[in-house]
Formats: sequence, C-alpha cells, structure tokens
Amino acid sequence: MKPAFIPRLINHPFGDPGLFVELRYEGRAMLFDLGRIDRRPAGALFKVHHVFVSHTHMDHFIGFDHLLRLFLARDRDLHLYGPPGFIDNVRGRLAGYTWNLIESYPLHLTVHEVGEQTVSTVALPARTAFSPERESTRPFDGILVDEDQFTVSTAHLDHRIPCLGFAVQEKTRLNVRPEKLAELGVPAGRWLNQLKSGVRQDLPPQTPIVAEWREAGESHSRSFRLGELRDLLLVETRGQKLAYVVDTIFTRENMERICELVRGADTFYCESLFLDADRHEATKRHHLTARQAGTLARAAGVQRLENFHFSSRYERDPSPFRREAQAAFRGELAPDVPD
Ligand SMILES: [Zn+2]
Ligand SMILES: [Zn+2]
Repeated sequence: MKPAFIPRLINHPFGDPGLFVELRYEGRAMLFDLGRIDRRPAGALFKVHHVFVSHTHMDHFIGFDHLLRLFLARDRDLHLYGPPGFIDNVRGRLAGYTWNLIESYPLHLTVHEVGEQTVSTVALPARTAFSPERESTRPFDGILVDEDQFTVSTAHLDHRIPCLGFAVQEKTRLNVRPEKLAELGVPAGRWLNQLKSGVRQDLPPQTPIVAEWREAGESHSRSFRLGELRDLLLVETRGQKLAYVVDTIFTRENMERICELVRGADTFYCESLFLDADRHEATKRHHLTARQAGTLARAAGVQRLENFHFSSRYERDPSPFRREAQAAFRGELAPDVPD
C-alpha cells in the first residue's frame, strides 16, 4: 500500500522553509509555511486547499502574495491557519492592494487564527474586496482539521513569539482482504464504504450493512452485521504521520510540547538554523541547532528526521547539519539537554 501523503520541501535547505504535502488519492495538497514558493510549479500549487503558517516572520509568509496572485480569479475556497495576530497579518497584506473590479471573482479565503484557548475564524471573500464576513470562535483542542482520511494538529511553541508546530496524521487504514471478499461471493460496492465508515465511527457490531448489486439483469441484496464483516474482511494498519517544526527555542517546555506533537512520526521535518558550536547564538535567536533537532527526533521516537532551514552563514554546505543531526538522532552524539 502506497503512503497517502507525498511530502516535499519547497526549497533547498538554505532557502525559505516550507513543506508541500500532496494527498495521493485526492489530487489535493497542503502547504506548511508560505515563504518563497515561486519555484514550485503553478500546477502543483493549484492543488493547495489548506495552508498552515507557523508564524509570520518574512521567510515564512512572503509567499502569501504569490499564492493569492495564482488563485485570485479561481473558484476556490482556501483555508489559512496561523498563530495569534494572523487575521491582522493577512488583512494587512490584503490592504496593500486596490481591490475594485473583482466583485465577480469567486475566490473565498477563510482565515483561522489559532490562540492558546480559542480558534477565531473569519471569511474574506474576493467579491466583497476581502471585507470580513461571518466571524466565529471555537475552543482550541489541538486539532485544526479533522477529515475522513486525516487530521492536522498543532502546538504552540516559543520563538519569543508564539510559533505553531504541525502534525498531519492519516487515520487508521482499513483495507479489504480480497480473498475473503471472493469467498463471500458479494461484489465490491458502496456497502464496503459504509462498513469502513461504520468501523471508523465505532458503531455497534450489530449495525446492519446491506449489500445491493445487480447481476445478469437481476437485483440482489444480502444483509450482514457490521461486527461480522469487520472481523472477516478488514485489515487495520496504522496511518502515515508527518510532523513539521520550525523556529523555536530548545527549552524543557518546548521539548515536551514537540515530543507530544510529533511522537512516532514517519518523517519529522525540523529546523536547525545553527550547528552545536553556535548553540548560544541559537538560544539567543530562539532557534534550534542540528544536535537539538536530533535530540528531539530521538526523544519523540520518530522513524526518520529531515532537518532543514539552515543559516546562510555556513557557506551553503548542508552536510555538517545533516551529520550532526543524524548522529544525535541515532544516539552516537550525546543528546543536548535543555536549559
Ligand atoms: Zn525562519
Ligand atoms: Zn522566525
């Protein structure tokens, strides 16, 4: 079974950070951070439905205009999530342009500002020249998006300002055993989706599932119970998980929050602006070192660490960053200890 998410860093590791995650079976994509994105082909960016912005330092947000330019005349509903102050940041960027003559444009922005207690949402449609509509607030429970196939969760991290870390988790996969389906003698159909959705919702085992099909011009139907079909036909496998953490300081509290968010990820994308030799500079600037990225990845029990967002002061050679992070991740270099 192929992984559901296809992740790709937007730029080289010394460039603006950002992760493009394509949903393999849906033709859709998510974008984590909005730094320079103009090197990604427009065809890929058009798939984006959800954008998650860690914080609005320029290297994480300058791509907003490029995305807006691409989407402006399109019939699209684009959701943007960001930290406290995000709605003002988005509106500030929009206020830098003149918006007459777009009353007929169908583009619809929905902006979600993620506070520690609440998520505030506002709609900014092109047809009103991006004047706000339908403002609402909900309690913050760590989950930003909850769809049938996956969730996106977040944690507030400390970068001297709040900075959001993200994790995207595919829900448990339910695959049908083809040999058992053949033995049952009922062709695949909508009833299998009803079965999977019932199992995902944890419906009682006696819930009826009715399979209906046509064969040689005749209608057939057979009735089953959810529990018996689940035991006979379905195999459950853990879904894929990706995590993305940028621009944060190595403190005990951040470490706890990061470990909880990224625990068990298949791939953990983690910033490391500095090398261990410049640990004090990293602390001063509220950033991580490569050794700290490796320490976090090891503590969180991830499968694979990919560190990125390297400072340009290191002459554009990524290998010392990779070596240091992987050594700490594998335990060959002693873990760093938060202050
Ligand atoms: Zn940054
Ligand atoms: Zn920053």
